[in-house]
Amino acid sequence: MKNVLCFFLVLFFIFLPLGSQTYSDTDIISVEKNQDIVQKLKKMELDLLLEWSNRLYFLCGLNDLYQLQKEGIPYVMETENFYPYRQSDIIMQAGINGAYHSYLEIEADLMALEAAYPQLAKVFAIGSSLEGRNIYALKISDNVDLDEAEAEVFFVGCHHAREWISVEIPYLLAKYLVENYESDPAIKSLVNRSEIWVVPLLNPDGLEYSIHFYRYWRKNRRDNGGGSYGIDLNRNYSYNWGFDNEGSSSNPFSNTYRGSAAFSEPETQAVRDFFQQRSIQALITYHSHGQVILYPWGYTSNPAPKDELLEEIAAEMSERMEAVKGNIYQYGQAGESLYLTNGDTTDWAFGTYGIPSYTFELPPIDALQGGFFNAELEISSIFEDNLPAALYLIEWSILNF
Ligand SMILES: [Zn+2]
Repeated sequence: MKNVLCFFLVLFFIFLPLGSQTYSDTDIISVEKNQDIVQKLKKMELDLLLEWSNRLYFLCGLNDLYQLQKEGIPYVMETENFYPYRQSDIIMQAGINGAYHSYLEIEADLMALEAAYPQLAKVFAIGSSLEGRNIYALKISDNVDLDEAEAEVFFVGCHHAREWISVEIPYLLAKYLVENYESDPAIKSLVNRSEIWVVPLLNPDGLEYSIHFYRYWRKNRRDNGGGSYGIDLNRNYSYNWGFDNEGSSSNPFSNTYRGSAAFSEPETQAVRDFFQQRSIQALITYHSHGQVILYPWGYTSNPAPKDELLEEIAAEMSERMEAVKGNIYQYGQAGESLYLTNGDTTDWAFGTYGIPSYTFELPPIDALQGGFFNAELEISSIFEDNLPAALYLIEWSILNF
């Protein structure tokens, strides 16, 4: 497995007394991706933002730059190249989310889908965040008010605050299903035979912080004390949580801090409790960036039981995505990628329930503008690529119900 992203390491943030953030020590650098450098980097816990054209891009503070120099790793300062996210613009950018949803906007749009399609869509709050925002699930099914004996599939977005595109894809999936129900017999058939659960925004506090204060924010907003904030929600699930202390961090300042205990956070508890009440048969959790499909295990490079099935479904999803307009989503076991991860959603869902569970790393980049983040105009195009994969997983769940 190559090209795997979203394995973010430590960033030493400095906080002002009220928890606001200083920006003076955040630079973007890139290094060549080769075996020698990757080996050295593994010891360093840098905050990986993006992998592109055989280079790794990191968010660095002064201490990180010092470490890179000490290790003799050549790097290129890229901060100024990433218009409009140059350091000097980060504060100016705050509060601008454009076509991407904020918490209140996704809330309103989910309610609007329910209002427009009351037979097909129903909004549930499956928990609330640390700061008291609702975590919404939209259920989509025929006879949506009834709990029918049908296959259940789960789509979730935005464990990581700065991955805004990961809110949009599951939301657009929900919208597509209800809007095309009457006109498209294939959609109607899928919706009639399943119960589809869409949670577009698992980390609302983090998203709001990313919009209003700091675009690169990743974790939730837990006050860890000592000036450190945030738990990495995708390291906080219980299956082999903190395994071997590699693949998540025990350091509260780290961007992959796993928390003081598995399921310490209300956001992950919401998913855990929801699964206890339902009978979910498959899931996709959306992240960015990387344009890859990953499946368990992440905590080890050893293959999971049912590895062949996991791969077979991933291959089918990838093939159907490529058929849309030729964009290739590579696929593979998460633990065979650049870094191990533990305590993530898919290891937990697969380890606990044995269900096919996939991390989709959505495409990386607005190449035209050179930014880290997808242009607003690309949202619908990325969704077009992702739609057949989601539909296939629903279909698979129905056939294996
Ligand atoms: Zn992520």
